[in-house]
Amino acid sequence: MKKHNFSAGPCILPQEVMKKASEAVLELDDIGLSLIEISHRSKEFVAIMEKARSLALELLGLEGKGYQALFLQGGASTQFLMAAYNLLENKAGYINTGTWSLKAIKEAKLMGDIVEVASSQDQNFNYIPKGYEIPAGLDYLHLTSNNTIFGTQVKEFPKTDIPLICDMSSDIFSRQLDFSQFDLIYAGAQKNMGPAGTTLVVVKEDILGKVSRTIPSMLDYKVHLGKDSMFNTPPVFPVYVSMLTLQWLKELGGIAAIEEINEKKANLIYSEIELNPVFAGFAAKEDRSIMNATFNITDESLKEEFDAKCKEAGINGINGHRSVGGYRASMYNAMSLESVGVLVDVMSELERKG
Ligand SMILES: *Cc1c(COP(=O)(O)O)cnc(C)c1O
Repeated sequence: MKKHNFSAGPCILPQEVMKKASEAVLELDDIGLSLIEISHRSKEFVAIMEKARSLALELLGLEGKGYQALFLQGGASTQFLMAAYNLLENKAGYINTGTWSLKAIKEAKLMGDIVEVASSQDQNFNYIPKGYEIPAGLDYLHLTSNNTIFGTQVKEFPKTDIPLICDMSSDIFSRQLDFSQFDLIYAGAQKNMGPAGTTLVVVKEDILGKVSRTIPSMLDYKVHLGKDSMFNTPPVFPVYVSMLTLQWLKELGGIAAIEEINEKKANLIYSEIELNPVFAGFAAKEDRSIMNATFNITDESLKEEFDAKCKEAGINGINGHRSVGGYRASMYNAMSLESVGVLVDVMSELERKG
């Protein structure tokens, strides 16, 4: 029986995408060869890469607006450094909303001065800082749109004239935003797009080429752009699966359609968390993530029973991150409303018994 996969990442992908991807491992589109044994310079793979890049821009509404999409390697973690390498000359601002922001700050400090413009560390990152002032003289401002570990999500982004950089690893393609307010977006594939092994980078070309340092080829966005995201052998399988997922999303009606479903899933679980005294939400209500719902059990004596009931119902991957404890239900794009319903049923059963 297929389980309900609430894992935070790597995580659930659409079933039909998995089916097509596994077929392509044996033979890609009747060409008599496997996807993973053909040259990345073959016309078949070049078409896949181009399709993936253009679908990403199309879904984000960024076609013809001076942006390019790249599929790189090294995970979002490499982007922490790469963004700074390419864009930080003197001083940059970071909004610290959790573990991933802190890691981004650590890497960027290797390249210049970092100003922590705002932080929610004082409350173990259970909220998103708001109403902060952005100091003058920054090369860019960096945010993490969705805090995968703490379950908070930025609902409104600051208005600023300096380049805005956003780590969207865990909520890209999940909700409508004016993506043109960002100058650089990056996201590891393994949360909402594909298997681990590739990172989507969407960059506005005119922000590049402004730092004075020499950038190593593999860390230079311009080098990758100049080679159409094929400077070296790309991770062909993750790129292919990402392309399939983006196509799946487009056929579903794009981000607008998936957002509606994601809102329903989030409403379902959060109303249960609010109404059921056995559970308490971790994140501040107005900042709750529609991707990762974090909650605790209020009566520890019920924990064993809850865990057993979840197991019985085929619910997988809801243990919270070790820095938060409790539970975390990740509800990425491919998760159905029905699966969230199964979890909510188990939660409400516990209340009736409790
Ligand atoms: C998972 C995650 C990362 C790390 O991604 P890797 O691809 O493993 O390097 C970075 N930022 C956010 C917000 C994440 O959720």
